Amino acid sequence: MDASEKSFNDREVLRTRAAIANGRGGFSLEDIEVAPPRLGEVLVEIRAAGICHTDHASLSWKRPLVMGHEGAGVVRSIGTGVTHVKPGDPVVLNWAIPCGECFQCGRGSAVLCERSRPAHVMEPSAGHAHAGGTLWKGRPVDRSFNLGTLSGFTLVQAAAVTSLGPGVPFASACIVGCGVMTGFGSAVNVARIQPGESVVVIGCGGVGLNVIQGARLAGAGRIIAVDRRESSRVTARRFGATDTLQVAENDRELRAVAAVVREMTGGRGADCAFEATSVPQLAFTPLLMIRDGGMALQVSGINDPVTVEMPWFMWNKTYVTPLYGGCVPGRDFPRIFEHYRRGELLLDELVTRSYPLEDLSEALEDMMTGRNAKGVILF
Ligand SMILES: [Zn+2]
Ligand SMILES: [Zn+2]
Repeated sequence: MDASEKSFNDREVLRTRAAIANGRGGFSLEDIEVAPPRLGEVLVEIRAAGICHTDHASLSWKRPLVMGHEGAGVVRSIGTGVTHVKPGDPVVLNWAIPCGECFQCGRGSAVLCERSRPAHVMEPSAGHAHAGGTLWKGRPVDRSFNLGTLSGFTLVQAAAVTSLGPGVPFASACIVGCGVMTGFGSAVNVARIQPGESVVVIGCGGVGLNVIQGARLAGAGRIIAVDRRESSRVTARRFGATDTLQVAENDRELRAVAAVVREMTGGRGADCAFEATSVPQLAFTPLLMIRDGGMALQVSGINDPVTVEMPWFMWNKTYVTPLYGGCVPGRDFPRIFEHYRRGELLLDELVTRSYPLEDLSEALEDMMTGRNAKGVILF
C-alpha cells in the first residue's frame, strides 16, 4: 500500500484539543474537529509547539483563532498530489507558506508570497481567505498563520511542512520554524555573510543567538556580541561570538560601543550589524557599527515610530528589515537540521522549559515576565 492509498483510507474527521484565542486578549482550551486532507494538503499530528511573543499578540487579533505558529510533529495523512512527505514522517512547519505561483514566488522570494492560503480554503470574506477544514462548535475557525500549532492536529497546505529526518527531538525542531530560522536566515540568506567578515550582534536573546550561529557557520572572522547582561554575553560566546561588549548604563545610543567596534575593525566599522533587542530606541544603532557600504539589519520586529539622524546612513549603507530570514523551507530547514546533527548548531540549549497544553497560561506568563528564553508545549 503506498502513501496516497493510505491517505485515501484515512477519511475520518478527528476531534482534538486546541488553544483558541478569543480576540479580546484571552484564550481557552476547546475541542475542535479537523477534516481529512484534500488535494495538496497534509494533516499533521503536533508533538511540540514553540511559544513566542506573536502568540501573546494573537490573543487580541479580534477574531477567534487556533493559536500557535511554531510546530513539529508527525504526518498523519496526506491528500492527493502530495509527494514530498508521507504518513509517519516527522516534519517541521513553516509559518510563511509559499503558493509557488504568485509574482513574489516567481521571482524566488517565497517568504513574500502574496497568496498564502489555509487548507480547505473558502472564499475570501473580510479581506482574507478562511480555513474550512477546522471546525469549532460546528463552524469554521481560522488558524494562526494558517497553521494553528497549539492543537493536537493541524491541517495545512503541503508547502507548510518540511521533512525533519531522523535524530532531532520535536521540542528542538519546532523552534526552528520561527526564531532559529529568523536569526540564522538573516545572517546567511539576507546579510549573506562571507568568510572572514566582521559582524556585530546587538542583543543576545533567542533571535540574536541564532544570528551568531549563522554568522559562525558562514565563516565570519569576528563576531562581536553586545548585551547588557553578563549571562547573555556568556551564552553568546557558547553560540560562537568571538568578542563580547558590555553596554554602559549611560550609553543610550550605543555610541561608546560603536567606537569600540570601529577600533576592533581597523577603524572602519563591521561589514554588517544586527539589532535583535526589540528596543525601539536601538532600531537604527546597527548603522553606527558598520563601515561605508555595509549592511544594518533589524531582526527584532520593531513596530514603533523611531527617529534617526540621516547622516547615520552615510555612506552607501543598507538598512534591511528581513522577514523570516528569507526562509525557503525546503532549502533552509534540511540545512539547519544537518548542522544540528553534526553538532555545529545548538538547538536543545535554546529551550528553557516545556509544558503540557493545559499549562499554556503559565507558559505565556513565563515568557512575558522574561523567565523563559523559549518555552515549548509538548503534546
Ligand atoms: Zn506565492
Ligand atoms: Zn514565533
